[in-house]
Amino acid sequence: MERRRRIAIRGATVVTMNAAREVLEQGDVLVADGRIQRVAAPAAAPEELAGYEVVGAQGLVLIPGLVQTHVHLCQTLFRGLADDLELLDWLRLRIWPLEGAHDAASLRCSALAGISELLRGGTTTILDMESVHHTEAALEAILESGIRAIAGKCLMDHGEGVPPSLLEGIDEGIRESVELLEAWDMRDDGRVRYALCPRFVVSCTDALLGEVRRVSEHYGVPVHTHAAENQDEVALVKAERGRLNVEHLAELGLLGHRLVMAHGIWVEPGELDLIAQGDAALAHCPGSNLKLGSGIASTPRWLERGIRFGIGADGAPCNNHLDMWSEMRLSAILQKPFYGARAMPASQVFALATIDGARALGLEDEVGSVEAGKRADLVLVDWSGSHHVPLGYTDVYSHLVYESKSSDVVLTMVDGRVLFAQGEVRTIDEAAVRRSCEAALTRLVERSGIPIAPSGALAALARRRDGR
Ligand SMILES: [Zn+2]
Repeated sequence: MERRRRIAIRGATVVTMNAAREVLEQGDVLVADGRIQRVAAPAAAPEELAGYEVVGAQGLVLIPGLVQTHVHLCQTLFRGLADDLELLDWLRLRIWPLEGAHDAASLRCSALAGISELLRGGTTTILDMESVHHTEAALEAILESGIRAIAGKCLMDHGEGVPPSLLEGIDEGIRESVELLEAWDMRDDGRVRYALCPRFVVSCTDALLGEVRRVSEHYGVPVHTHAAENQDEVALVKAERGRLNVEHLAELGLLGHRLVMAHGIWVEPGELDLIAQGDAALAHCPGSNLKLGSGIASTPRWLERGIRFGIGADGAPCNNHLDMWSEMRLSAILQKPFYGARAMPASQVFALATIDGARALGLEDEVGSVEAGKRADLVLVDWSGSHHVPLGYTDVYSHLVYESKSSDVVLTMVDGRVLFAQGEVRTIDEAAVRRSCEAALTRLVERSGIPIAPSGALAALARRRDGR
């Protein structure tokens, strides 16, 4: 109901990210029925604003909502529980047993905690891979919270070290995916969409991947997976299937415009050519790639080939936050020792975080820029902090990518609904979520059987913080 309201955001400096990359000195953005109705610069006439709720934004910067092309809401509850491990150990020793121990209640609070953090930091759209079971709980959290998401249940039917709690027969996994897809795809006027999520080649048989291709083609939904994240993973795929990751996905007919592959660090030049020819997309996750010691993706090579890609934080236990601002900064500065200081300029990176990220998800006609007709996914940032002095001779993209922090975000709107403002996420009871996360994690760790004990000092701090 709330989205039917008319809102006028008045007087902000508007970073449009339209084709001409216009930055408006002072603009009024008029929102109606969840969409941007008009971007007015100079200001709209007073009579034009009758019936609008006015949000004064003088002195603030209005940007398109940020798009994260790879996250796992189901892992937010595991933040700090799998530090300093390489990918395959990270999965086998910690993340898989923990994911396998989720129940619907723990998944729900994990998802809500992740969404709170994302909305507070100005992320309005995510491509999200859930776990094998209880995906409905995450989809419900997405629906209630108001964030825009393409999400789906993880598929795993194979692989060393996968706990029985996550292994699932092909028929069962595909049947549940189709049920979820039919129930959830295009919910709330297309804000919630479904993606098929085979975890990665290592944990999926060719028969399962073949079924994923068939269902994706039949329903026209995206496929979200991981590929070429780690050298051991690449060696495992090569030994088992006789090909490199991307070659294998191409051989199975999956390498098309609906495919989004996270990471792509250890791809050969020939694989990049295949990705470009197939018009598949990649997701760059620099924070996760560094923390797991996986490597550094050569994103300037992706740009040279015109490959569609965006940026994502990945999961909380491999980052350890879901902060797009730090991912933007890393996306820019990581490349400079290899390709020179002029590589990956801030303007390029901000496009990846907005309109190009939307393009990687096939949503570029709906989101990613501040333009009439698009969904009203908008964010206001406040540059009055000391880390934004001086402003007068500088560049907006420099402030967005190199200087800004998630704490600069003062308002986040999706589909014309204000989800975060005045320091509060309006659709989530954050205090209740904090309390349920602590309680749910205690039970989940017990169920998982992994040998970790609570920290006395931090368990006490959590009780004091949450008033328990
Ligand atoms: Zn991931």
